[in-house]
Amino acid sequence: MSSRLVQLRTSKSTAPAGTPPAASSADVDEIAPDAPRVYLETLGCQMNEADSALILGQLREQGYARVRDPAEADVILLNTCAVREKAEDRVYGRTSQLLRHRQENPGLVFGITGCMAEHLRERVTERAPHITLVVGPDSYRGIAELVDRARAGERVIDVELDKTETYAGIDALGSAVDRDDDGVSGQVTIQRGCDKFCTFCVVPFTRGRERGVAPRDILRQTRRLAEHGYREVMLLGQTVNSYRYEDVSFAALLRAVAAVDGISRIRFTSPYPVDFSDELIATMAALEAVCPQVHLPAQSGSDRMLAEMRRGYTRAEFVTLVRKLRTAMPEIALSTDIMVGFCGETEEDHAETLSLLDEVRFDSAFMFRYSDRGITYASKKLADDVPDEVKGRRLREVIELQEQHTRASHEARVGRTEEVLISGVSRRGDCMVGRTPRFQRVLLPLDAGPPGTLVRVPIARSTGHSLRAG
Ligand code: SF4
Repeated sequence: MSSRLVQLRTSKSTAPAGTPPAASSADVDEIAPDAPRVYLETLGCQMNEADSALILGQLREQGYARVRDPAEADVILLNTCAVREKAEDRVYGRTSQLLRHRQENPGLVFGITGCMAEHLRERVTERAPHITLVVGPDSYRGIAELVDRARAGERVIDVELDKTETYAGIDALGSAVDRDDDGVSGQVTIQRGCDKFCTFCVVPFTRGRERGVAPRDILRQTRRLAEHGYREVMLLGQTVNSYRYEDVSFAALLRAVAAVDGISRIRFTSPYPVDFSDELIATMAALEAVCPQVHLPAQSGSDRMLAEMRRGYTRAEFVTLVRKLRTAMPEIALSTDIMVGFCGETEEDHAETLSLLDEVRFDSAFMFRYSDRGITYASKKLADDVPDEVKGRRLREVIELQEQHTRASHEARVGRTEEVLISGVSRRGDCMVGRTPRFQRVLLPLDAGPPGTLVRVPIARSTGHSLRAG
């Protein structure tokens, strides 16, 4: 290992020249000469991104240093996701690519963390003998010790699910070098696991039962974000609005988070449609800091498919919820998840999904085809009987239709004045970027203001997926 000191990036690395850093000098990290170095890649959702910061924070406390070049690493971790198709192949493929770094460092340790750890534990030795560390989502508190053992040559597998682990007391914010966010919008995990057991979903099996983080811990983390210059907080949970901790409901938690000084905007994802209470809708409408934006996963427009998926609602109930949200917050933006080709889905079911898209006119959507995830109810009891080419064609149809709605949603903002929270400089470096309360992306002139600034700007035009301030 090199003995030089390496300066890593700051959390405000996207700020234009001359922008004063909002965070402290602790945001610049140096690697001690003898610190073991860990390289981590994250696959999957925002929950996994937040977990990666937690993992790196735990390792840092025990003397590990993060590097962003795998060639410099002593330990390579992949924080994995089991939700989407081909995830397992991607994990094996990626670790095989990274295996070449063993030539420079024969002691290099490969590990996987996250949702696939549970899933892979039996196959991993056979399929990828170079992976000697497998750590599930409830074992991060002790991850430094597990990594130490793997570095000492042991094959380490710890995938026990823990009904009570919420990582209370751990500062998930960690050091700025452990975070990959923009330093303006931060994430706080408020709930782990899921009890809903939708028939297609691996989450209850890979992340265990639903449990809420204590409100004092959530507020402590939110205050810490505000102290470090963050202006927006995203509350994360698999079914975030099902949150409950003793007698504290999600609506009560929103009120408490909205009272934290320095936080101008609150978002949350992903809510479970069934648990969207009238009290929660009224609370959202009453709190200025809560953004008028909700990701509301529909999955299908067919009652028959919704029942097969055990989503717990009918199409009519979903549409009623949409109507209530729009009545309480006329400006609200709605996004959704749509799954095509679930077990037994007919052309009529598919047509119902297309008609739901037309009826609700979501502002945006994540659309994907069903794939058998191996350990779910659907995998064991239902036939994955929609041919691949039919799934592909149905997916194209929902994407084409949604694309029209997404474009229309953006074009409808042209000529209006929007409040934009500036988050940084665009990748090409030619403009600033930010988000409206409705989560639409806005491109602004470079002199619009530093990251973390709220500005009101007229919208001159739409590119279909983002807006340009004029
Ligand atoms: S609500 Fe359903 S889809 Fe969402 S995480 Fe839980 S089981 Fe999975």
